[in-house]
Amino acid sequence: MLKFTPILLAILYALAMYQFSAWRTRKELDAKSTELADATLKRLTDRMAEALGLERIPVHIYEVPVVNGLAAPDGRIFLTRGFYDRYRSGEVSAEELASVIAHEMGHVALGHSRRRMIDFSGQNAVRVVLAGILGRLIPGVGVWLANTLASLLAARLSRQDEYEADAYASALLTKAGIGTTPQKSLFEKLEHLTGMAGRGTPAWLMSHPKTEDRIAAIEAMEARWRRELPSE
Ligand SMILES: [Zn+2]
Repeated sequence: MLKFTPILLAILYALAMYQFSAWRTRKELDAKSTELADATLKRLTDRMAEALGLERIPVHIYEVPVVNGLAAPDGRIFLTRGFYDRYRSGEVSAEELASVIAHEMGHVALGHSRRRMIDFSGQNAVRVVLAGILGRLIPGVGVWLANTLASLLAARLSRQDEYEADAYASALLTKAGIGTTPQKSLFEKLEHLTGMAGRGTPAWLMSHPKTEDRIAAIEAMEARWRRELPSE
């Protein structure tokens, strides 16, 4: 029994962290957000809602200056004020913003947003357990190895999520008649915007895989669709 105590403690710790993070995130988002009311964007989200058989897709504005889109663990979709400002100033088109909404919907539909919160709080637990085991097996480098393994696993999982959310967005945008062009042009635009100093780093880019890899993945998928689906 004593042998399993550290693992049990790590699991309890992860559970408590998850509850706390979910609660804190919800509180923060509630306090700093309003529902988006933009006629042009609503026309696009209504087309996506129709493609999915939904009544409508509510989108919220999160009052922070960074450029980001996010899917809350409770399934709500948020665009940051920073991202919305880029759209208002004409730097980002309504279709491009719709592609971000579609991507975030992918995270919700595929269960990523909830799991990511669990991953985040579970990661520390994995570290603790691995460090305990490896540290005993390989004194010295064991702890370092445990940290590296935990980080690698997390990075791999999140990259995979991004490609899946992109694929979901491509399919949804295609079905809604918006197409994947704005999805791809936004990737390139964001990469360019990263170079603009002092205007807030697009956090959305930092947490996502490389632009050319994402575009290549979408194009490979479109080529596959063309091969597999009879053209109309
Ligand atoms: Zn994403």
